[in-house]
Amino acid sequence: MNLNRKSFMFDMVLFELQDIVGRGNVSVKEADKLAYSVDYYWISELWHDRSGPLTTADFIVQPQSSQQISKIMVLANEYKLPVTVWGGGGGSQGGALAVFGGIIMDVKKMNRVIEIDKVSMTVEAETGILMQNLEWELEKHGLSTMHIPASIFCSTLGGFLAHRGTGVLSTKYGKMEDMVVSMEVVLPTGEIIESLPVNKTASGPDLNWIFIGSEGTLGVITKVKVTVKKMPQVRKFQAFLYKDLARGLEAGKNLMHEGIKPSVIRLYDAEETKSLVKRVMGVDREGAYLVYGVEGYEDVVELEAKHAYKIASKGGEDLGTETGKLWWDTRYKFFYPPYYFSMPQAFGTCDTVATYANIESVYWNMKNSVAEKFPQARFIGHFSHWFDWGAMLYARFIIDNPPSDKHQAVSLYNDVWNTVIRAALKEGGVLNEHHGIGLKLGRLMKEQYGPSFKIIKDLKKMLDPNHIMNPGKMGLGVR
Ligand SMILES: Cc1cc2nc3c(=O)[nH]c(=O)nc-3n(C[C@H](O)[C@H](O)[C@H](O)COP(=O)(O)OP(=O)(O)OC[C@H]3O[C@@H](n4cnc5c(N)ncnc54)[C@H](O)[C@@H]3O)c2cc1C
Repeated sequence: MNLNRKSFMFDMVLFELQDIVGRGNVSVKEADKLAYSVDYYWISELWHDRSGPLTTADFIVQPQSSQQISKIMVLANEYKLPVTVWGGGGGSQGGALAVFGGIIMDVKKMNRVIEIDKVSMTVEAETGILMQNLEWELEKHGLSTMHIPASIFCSTLGGFLAHRGTGVLSTKYGKMEDMVVSMEVVLPTGEIIESLPVNKTASGPDLNWIFIGSEGTLGVITKVKVTVKKMPQVRKFQAFLYKDLARGLEAGKNLMHEGIKPSVIRLYDAEETKSLVKRVMGVDREGAYLVYGVEGYEDVVELEAKHAYKIASKGGEDLGTETGKLWWDTRYKFFYPPYYFSMPQAFGTCDTVATYANIESVYWNMKNSVAEKFPQARFIGHFSHWFDWGAMLYARFIIDNPPSDKHQAVSLYNDVWNTVIRAALKEGGVLNEHHGIGLKLGRLMKEQYGPSFKIIKDLKKMLDPNHIMNPGKMGLGVR
């Protein structure tokens, strides 16, 4: 339905929404709508920078319970109104933008910590809680989820599940999705469902995985139980410098394959070492900077650190533990002003992941493709999340002076994205590793998945027959 904002029908829907969540929890103020018309998607920032016009929702609604969400979904189906879930608005893919109007459902009032279970080492919480607030609550008990992303202050537990987020310690503790024990979801049609109490059963496919990573297109994740860990007794870091990326990648792979469980391994390419590592940390060296961490009980860490050192020092120059610790202390700085990129610069984070056999060629193909086609762009990258079988590349392109005409700027931006992603796919990479798809990469989903994309599309049709949830995202179209 296309709601005429001046019609009495608009007031009717407003009244019904107020009846569900209370008057104070619905806003139709222009200022509020503007606040929800930009996330960290560069094109939405550009549109703000160049005077719009902006895409806004009709209603901003803040539910406080799953039952209220359920009622909102029923109402949205009756009027065929789009519903877009908003967590922290910290996503970089435009996923939380209400591009077809309708309802923005801001879930941040659903922020209760329901239970910390120290016997099973789990915490159950509502998903609108900001990740840092959950961590502060757990810290009081000497616990942590160990999901520590750079956006911990501005993104929610539910947002990280919706995007399959990755924290800085993921190499030891896994991604957000690996921590899930069970969850509650409100379906697009309003039913409230709970997954099984634990996720290690042989009762068919694990239903959690339908909703994890579905970016608010298949349901609202309202509660989740995730694992927690005791805070480590010690955290140790060590830095090395390698002459080139290949030697750094070899060291990182060996660290993963020799029975050690590093909490973090971060390897910067020569360009990022020369730019950001130098600016943020003051380490002014040519080559590929690598830092790794080990953590846990002191005596175990002592042994792990010794073995890790032996492995990493092959072909590397020891930059010391202090330089390693400095990286940990400054880790957030890399992502915020004055070090982060901002308007008028055009920039995109093209994170991807591939096996060790492919990851180096993924990197070079992405970098060379950008260099060949877009001489005005810089390409920098680091490898920040390491698995038993491969590593994640956090690559970025930056264009200092994109066209001042916003339409031309968008066209250039999308062109770089298509080029860089196709270069990754060609060498065995994927669309991304933890930022999600949203609006930004939807058009490339079909290319990545081929015929199997039909399964995701069919799931969408089945769960959301009126296509009200987050239309236009993840390549799932409008209806
Ligand atoms: C400076 C900076 C640093 C970052 N660093 C990291 C990092 O280290 N690791 C990382 O993984 N990401 C990082 N990100 C990206 C961002 O934090 C993640 O994409 C995060 O998952 C977004 O969560 P959010 O709560 O902000 O979600 P939003 O941006 O509000 O929403 C994102 C998507 O999730 C959907 N959604 C939100 N909540 C729910 C829910 N409860 N149920 C169903 N769908 C929902 C929305 O509809 C939307 O499609 C960073 C971003 C910034 C700006």
